Amino acid sequence: SLQDIQAPVAVAVEAAGCKGLPQAPGLADDLFASDGQITKRPIRALTLSALAPRAGELLWDIGGGSGSVSVEWCLAAPGARAIAFEPRESRLQNIRANAAGFGLDHRMTAVPGKAPDVLVGHPLPDCVFIGGGGSKDLLDHLWEILPAGTRLVANGVTLETETLLMQAHAARGGHLLKAEIAEAGPLGSMRDWRRARPVIQWSVTR
Ligand code: SAH
Repeated sequence: SLQDIQAPVAVAVEAAGCKGLPQAPGLADDLFASDGQITKRPIRALTLSALAPRAGELLWDIGGGSGSVSVEWCLAAPGARAIAFEPRESRLQNIRANAAGFGLDHRMTAVPGKAPDVLVGHPLPDCVFIGGGGSKDLLDHLWEILPAGTRLVANGVTLETETLLMQAHAARGGHLLKAEIAEAGPLGSMRDWRRARPVIQWSVTR
């Protein structure tokens, strides 16, 4: 509930003059503490749709960044939990600040380290999101340890990750999506399209 939500989220919600947080995933980027490395709102909305959170499920958010995907996972379903794995200390702090800001301290954990090594010893998830650190090693490792039925969604923007995800799709099936999004911005007294990097998204059930 809104009472559980601390500043700056509560402040932003009040400033917007609305009665609470919007209930659909794809919250505004500026509701999250971040250094700019954050999955942007439209892509985050597509990502949450692909992750398909259900009550009580556990997410591994590999390459947690700001933790925005973990936050929206936890908000989307009652009792949903997330472990965000992230090597950078400053980003771990953002993840923890965002967990606290959305009142999700008790459902989100930030773990320092790099996948795949950092994954060892944590409870197995119902769903995995790879937002960073994607590699053949990581995918092979996940395929090895995840029980059948586990969902996996991986986003990539580099040629290297695109190649990895195209090969993974060919080898293991699932769905491959390419999202090319542009937003209007000012160009002098007129406007033009600001093209975001295309994002490749592979979704599969183990
Ligand atoms: N989904 C995040 C953004 C992810 S950016 C958000 O919405 O905020 C990708 C992140 O992956 C970066 O923070 C980077 O530090 C992290 N990363 C890179 N290699 C990694 C690895 N091997 N294991 C875990 N995280 C990694």
